[in-house]
Amino acid sequence: MNAVPLRSNKTANAAIRSVTVLGATGSIGDSTMDLLRSARDRYRVEALTGNSNVQGLAKLAKEFGVRFAAVADPARLSELREALAGTGIECGAGASAVIEAAARPADWVMAAVSGAAGLKPALAAVDRGATVALANKECLVCAGDFFMQRAAKAGACILPADSEHNALFQALSSGHREELVRVIITASGGPFRTWAPADIEQATLAQALKHPNWSMGQKITIDSASMMNKGLEVIEASYLFSLKPEEIDVLVHPQSIVHGMVEFSDRSVVAQLGTPDMRIPIAHCLGWPERIKGPSAKLDLAKIGQLTFEAPDFERFPGLRLAYEALRMGRGATTVFNAANEVAVAAFIAGQIKFGAIARLVEATMEAWSRSTNLAPLSSADDAIAVDHNARNRAASLLPQIALRAS
Ligand code: NDP
Ligand code: MG
Repeated sequence: MNAVPLRSNKTANAAIRSVTVLGATGSIGDSTMDLLRSARDRYRVEALTGNSNVQGLAKLAKEFGVRFAAVADPARLSELREALAGTGIECGAGASAVIEAAARPADWVMAAVSGAAGLKPALAAVDRGATVALANKECLVCAGDFFMQRAAKAGACILPADSEHNALFQALSSGHREELVRVIITASGGPFRTWAPADIEQATLAQALKHPNWSMGQKITIDSASMMNKGLEVIEASYLFSLKPEEIDVLVHPQSIVHGMVEFSDRSVVAQLGTPDMRIPIAHCLGWPERIKGPSAKLDLAKIGQLTFEAPDFERFPGLRLAYEALRMGRGATTVFNAANEVAVAAFIAGQIKFGAIARLVEATMEAWSRSTNLAPLSSADDAIAVDHNARNRAASLLPQIALRAS
């Protein structure tokens, strides 16, 4: 059984739902809190988490009258306690406190921590059979099939919150799994879509952070500029919907209006459209199996005028090629791909490597890993975390030579 419910047979439930938001102080967290704010009578917030933004978290915790608030940074406990003094809100700090937040009894959990750091908290929600809206693609790419198997075993329901995967989730209900030929996820192409390779190589942090359509957190914005984000999403689609790499296509669509399409055996292609606003897929997850009223702008196709599509360029954006390679390699290769990319993005932000070196570091780490003997399939969260940890060390040790190497 797949943990993503492809056809809803659940009946609508008018009762108040308890919800927890992991990564409440981030960009997805902000969109989620915005939706919760406009439906206060339907949802009760059990727990919220952040990393180091104590003041932002405390403000949200007080506004929503939550039961528990946690920050991942252990050094911030006293600051959080002080900010919540007199409110009766319980609080905690450190990675274990974030896991505790996820383990508390909420019907619905938004997994929106950035990076593989979100894996253990997401698993804590999955293990108690919660409905988990999954935005944190890195945790799925890190843990792979194992995450979905564990979700199915626990009876958890995984709702794809990433816009492309949410689009596929919606389109998939038009047919049966056996009738599916392929899925297509779209990519805006990012700020460097039309740039020459030499200019992409030298791109600055400020240029990489200027996404043409979406307003998002820093890491995913850089991943969008390198198209590593689309690579992560190809892998995410494979695990979420049990798809082979050849069943997943990427199409560059600069307007970001069509988010995903599914082609069925009769050659019908079913697409989901919407303005580039994450509150649309999040609202779908929040309301599921019903639809709730969303605050996003109405889609005005006449005003937009043209929707255009291009094939992706695997040479200028090698991250996308590497993602398909990782998926074909299996056995933890996607864990390595993700870990190396997280190290590379942090190094780019810190000014240690050029933009073009991000993909080179990921490729070098994958090559070094594939030559090693540790090629067993992942069978537990600890396995995934060990491969992730080793890959991070390997990427860090390759960093100096990649930083020096010319393109
Ligand atoms: P942000 O960087 O805006 O927010 C990340 C959140 O995670 C913040 O609450 C942050 O806390 C918290 N956090 C960071 N590090 C840790 C850690 N080590 N342990 C626990 N919590 C931590 O990211 P986004 O909201 O943009 O993205 C979140 C996830 O959703 C990512 O996986 C991204 O790929 C995915 N996603 C995002 C989209 C978007 O539009 N933004 C679209 C689709 C998917 P603090 O604020 O205190 O630092
Ligand atoms: Mg996406």
